[in-house]
Amino acid sequence: MDFLRPASWEEALAAKAAHPQAVPIAGGTDVMVEINFDHRRPDHLLDLGRVGELAEWTMDESEGGERTVRLGASVPYTQIMAELRGELPGLALASHTVASPQIRNRGSVGGNLGTASPAGDAHPALLAAGCEVEAESRARGSRRIPIDAFFTGVKRNALKPDELIRAVHIPQADGPQQFSKVGTRNAMVIAVCAFSLALHPESRTVRTGIGSAAPTPIRALAAEDFLNAALEEGGCWDNGKAVAPSVAEEFAQLASGACDPIDDVRGSAAYRRHAVGVLARRTLTWCWDAYRSGVRSAPCV
Ligand SMILES: Cc1cc2nc3c(=O)[nH]c(=O)nc-3n(C[C@H](O)[C@H](O)[C@H](O)COP(=O)(O)OP(=O)(O)OC[C@H]3O[C@@H](n4cnc5c(N)ncnc54)[C@H](O)[C@@H]3O)c2cc1C
Repeated sequence: MDFLRPASWEEALAAKAAHPQAVPIAGGTDVMVEINFDHRRPDHLLDLGRVGELAEWTMDESEGGERTVRLGASVPYTQIMAELRGELPGLALASHTVASPQIRNRGSVGGNLGTASPAGDAHPALLAAGCEVEAESRARGSRRIPIDAFFTGVKRNALKPDELIRAVHIPQADGPQQFSKVGTRNAMVIAVCAFSLALHPESRTVRTGIGSAAPTPIRALAAEDFLNAALEEGGCWDNGKAVAPSVAEEFAQLASGACDPIDDVRGSAAYRRHAVGVLARRTLTWCWDAYRSGVRSAPCV
């Protein structure tokens, strides 16, 4: 196995162009498991560790004043929790639930997207926030892939063989966001299922993300449409009224109905459907209470 060690982004793209089958390695918390268990034996490993910009984040501001975090693909979860809790509360909450401190020190959102597991914890939060994945190849240059189009199948994504993820562009939260996960314990656990909700008061919309309850991470689109209409009809964005229990219940039912889960060792399909409904109702209550009390971002719970 050859170990490629580019020192810059340009060198990394050149290496990927020369060896499209080379497996990129960022934190290595997925790649090394696969190699150690002999599930994968690539001819080339492409180490991204010396490409400094991948481990950095910046805040971009558009002319209209919209602020977006440009999150380098290799920024570890620990850094997201420490530095981006206010800007990206949903992703920071999700980062908290990944594995253990050791894995969070190495593991990255770029790696989570690269693996594209239906159970990846960053994915529901990214779907709820709404973001774009910046992918680049030496031959065709850079493109932005909307997160809604990124997951194409079980552990499959929209990247071409010669592309690398450079960054993820995530709008700064304009309202409360939540992430909640069901597992057999609090740490070192792959999600039985997960749910993320983001309120977007500026556009008066909500977005959702569901993990581990379908072949890919998905949004609960019918639940979003229902809640958007109910909040608008009730004038809730302006009058700050509580969400009626019947609305929360219908939202939960529709979120549950969006799932297409399987039975496996971690849980049955029926349990996953039920649990997603519970998480949807809870996260709605937490987010809406935070919105009514004027908290821009929901605190970590
Ligand atoms: C003990 C343990 C517990 C875990 N628990 C969780 C958990 O609770 N939740 C969870 O979501 N995950 C968990 N994981 C999985 C893993 O930690 C995450 O998926 C993590 O986000 C991977 O990031 P990484 O930087 O280590 O990726 P790597 O292992 O370096 O790479 C992962 C994949 O992404 C590709 N890749 C990496 N960077 C790029 C790039 N810039 N462009 C294109 N492709 C790229 C790689 O080729 C590979 O296919 C766990 C892993 C272990 C070992």
